This record gives sequence, structure tokens and C-alpha cells, in this order.
Amino acid sequence: MSKEKSEAKLLQEKLCVNKKNGLLRASDEVINDCNAYCEDYKSFLDAAKTEREAVEYTVAAAEKKGFVPFKQGMELKSGDKVYTVNREKAVILAVIGEKPVEEGVHIAAAHIDSPRLDLKQNPLYEDNDTAFFKTHYYGGIKKYQWTTVPLSLHGVVVKADGSKVKICVGEDENDPVFCVTDLLPHLASDQMKRSSSELIKGEELNILIGSRPYRDDEISDKVKLNIMAILNEKYGITEEDFLSAELEAVPAFKAKDIGFDRSMVGSYGHDDRVCAYTALSAVLECEKPAKTAVVILTDKEETGSDGNTGLRSAYLKYFIADLAECFGTEGRKVLSKSECLSADVNAAFDPTFPDVCERRNTAYINKGVCVTKYTGARGKSGTSDASAEFMGRVRALLDKNEVIWQTGELGKVDAGGGGTVAAYIANLDVDTIDVGVPVLSMHAPYEIVAKLDVYMAYKAFAAFLSE
Ligand code: MN
Ligand code: MN
Repeated sequence: MSKEKSEAKLLQEKLCVNKKNGLLRASDEVINDCNAYCEDYKSFLDAAKTEREAVEYTVAAAEKKGFVPFKQGMELKSGDKVYTVNREKAVILAVIGEKPVEEGVHIAAAHIDSPRLDLKQNPLYEDNDTAFFKTHYYGGIKKYQWTTVPLSLHGVVVKADGSKVKICVGEDENDPVFCVTDLLPHLASDQMKRSSSELIKGEELNILIGSRPYRDDEISDKVKLNIMAILNEKYGITEEDFLSAELEAVPAFKAKDIGFDRSMVGSYGHDDRVCAYTALSAVLECEKPAKTAVVILTDKEETGSDGNTGLRSAYLKYFIADLAECFGTEGRKVLSKSECLSADVNAAFDPTFPDVCERRNTAYINKGVCVTKYTGARGKSGTSDASAEFMGRVRALLDKNEVIWQTGELGKVDAGGGGTVAAYIANLDVDTIDVGVPVLSMHAPYEIVAKLDVYMAYKAFAAFLSE
């Protein structure tokens, strides 16, 4: 049924921004692609809940696609695929382009760490015949959200002899899970008077791990001993080995479709495995890019990017320098001509909490991948602010490749804001802009994204990296 469009309607289409829901703009075929793509995304979410697991997943997937470990001074030609791992917590992949690296490379950078509860160095204790782990939360969380949800435990323990044991408990259907307890409402009248940031205090995020005593009349702390006996039998570790361990408690639930219409995905850690997965799958399919395609999956974004596996460290700069050396040039020459999509999620407008957003400049679910020219709090504090020229280039690229996209700021000007790794890459003299998926309930144990936006992020990275 075709109806002639009015002159005003045609003029509006020509002159005004199209803010239509992406599900009304995309064809049935594209919507089917979104759904199919997210089936694999859900498997990734369940398989790689921590930065170490995401690196392992990435290396296995990359090797299957012909990526080989990068070596200093190796001979490289167009189409070659290399990767390098930084301390098991960050990884860089590159597909060599047809143009010389002096003309710059295309970088997509996402982070693979997510908010969680880390075990303290002396985590294990017994109190009134129950055993617990002390934790120190990692990243910005609303602490009360992390009580009474099933938790799994992931990480490594380095033993006194230097050997390393991997631990992953709570993901298999038959595994036990763990939990932070909370007070019953009947007795919580004093607790409910606390300010909400103190509703659950950091030192109250203690994980319940056992209650069965070791059967002996002589000793004290029998429940603790019983736990250590189980851990020693299974992993060969002693209590002292916790001193050199990295154990992370994360929500134990699996990624699932949300809604009767299955249009969304609920999971732990969309931030930022949603941008990591979409950038990764784009580079894995990148065969002969014009410019060299580089994807970085980094650690420590949630704590400010410091440390040798975060993007404030020199590891990206060193990799680019090493890559440049393979072609007889200098890293800084490559960086100055390079472009980067800083792949990071943005806050999606939540109709239940509309007041924190400015509706004309916020991202919405199902309106596509979100391009954020600048981040920062209040007076753009901490931003790198992409140039109009680079924004213009990205805009043209997305439109040319039929990517459904939108812009969005993280909240009202004075509401708070947030940073990404964009500034640290821009500081290397690289044109950088934030591109990512809008998320509901960001940093909660269970976050939500829309399938259309996930797929559009993938299409955006694929278009950029194959150029
Ligand atoms: Mn993020
Ligand atoms: Mn985050």
C-alpha cells in the first residue's frame, strides 16, 4: 500500500534527524541476523566471565582463524594475522593491511574486565560455625545489588612452588554456588535508615562458602578446616596460597533472552564484553583490510586503566612500535596517522528513571550503536572529545555501511558522567571516538542490551576494520 508522501514529509526526511526505532528501520532479514548473531554472543558471555577467560577464548578463536603469535622483527605481509597476549589479561590482535602502516592503522579497543567482588588476600574465616570469604569489590557498584544473588568463583592460585591452579566453580549445572547474605526486612529497620551507599557496606560483602564442621572434638574453626580440606584435596592448595591468588566472584547466572519478544539479552558483564565480542568477531572475519586492523581487549578499565594490563600502560604503544619496526618505520609515525573506535558501552535511557538523562542527547535501546563524541563529567572533565572532522568521517562510514546508529551522552551535564579508555588512546596522538552499545542497569549483576544494538556494533566495527 503506497501513499504519496506530502511535501512537508519529504522535506522533514531530508532536513531532520531520523530518530526512528531501529526495529522499524531494519528489514526482517537484518532483524533475523541480529537474533542469530546474539546466540553466539550469549555463548561468549557464559564462557568468558573474567578478563583471563576472555583472553583464553580470544586466543582459541583467533588461532582457529589463522592468527599466530606476534614476534618482534617477524616478516609480515598484507593479510597476515597476529596476536599478542599481555600477562593473560589483555590481548591485541592485528590483521596486516594492504597499505603501509605509516599511513596509520585502524584500532578498536574494548575492555574485558567487569565489576565484581575480588577475594581479599586473607579471605577465609569462620564465624559462628559458618565459613566466609572476605571480598574487596572491583569497579563501581551499587553494593546492595550484590547480595542474595548466586555467585561463581573464577581465577588462579599461584602456589608456593610457583605452579598455578585454575579455579572455576559455580558455572557447571552441577556445581555449588556462593552468596552474600542480607538482613531480613523484619530486622532491617536500622539498616534501612543507612544512606543507600552504605545500605550494604564494603566489609559486609562477605561470601558464604560453607557450614559443615570437620568432625573432631579437639580443634576450633572446624568449618574453616573442612573447607581447606576440600580445597586441598581438589586443588592441592593451603590457606597461605590465597596470598598469591586472584579469585573473582561474579554472578553465576547465564545469559538469557529478555522479554516475550526476545528482543533483548540479560547477562552479567555486558559492560564491556558486548563491545569486546563485537570488535573481536569483526577482526576475526577481517581478511584483507586496506589499512592494518588492530583490536585491543584490555583489562582494568573499571578501576581507571592503571597498571600494566590497563590502557594507561605502554603496552599498546610498545606493540605499535614493534609492529612499525617490522616494516622499518617508527611507532609514533604509525600512531599519529591512526584512528580508533574506543568500544565502550553507554547508558541507555530508562523510562523508570528519566530524570538523569537529557532526552535529546541520550542513547536508547533499539536505536542502534551509540557514537559518543565526548565523555567526561560536568565541564567535560577527563574527556578526549573527538574532532568534528573525525566524527564526520565516522558518521559517513556508518551511513555508507547501513549501520543503524545514534548519539548519546552519559547522563545530564551535571549528573555525573563516566570515562572510557578513549582519552588514553587519544593521548597517543590517535584520532579516537567512543562507539558502543547502550546498556540498561549498567554495572548491576544483571545488565540488559538490545539485540539490534549488539549487531549494529558488530557491523560498525566490521566496516571500520575492513577499510
Ligand atoms: Mn565499559
Ligand atoms: Mn563500566
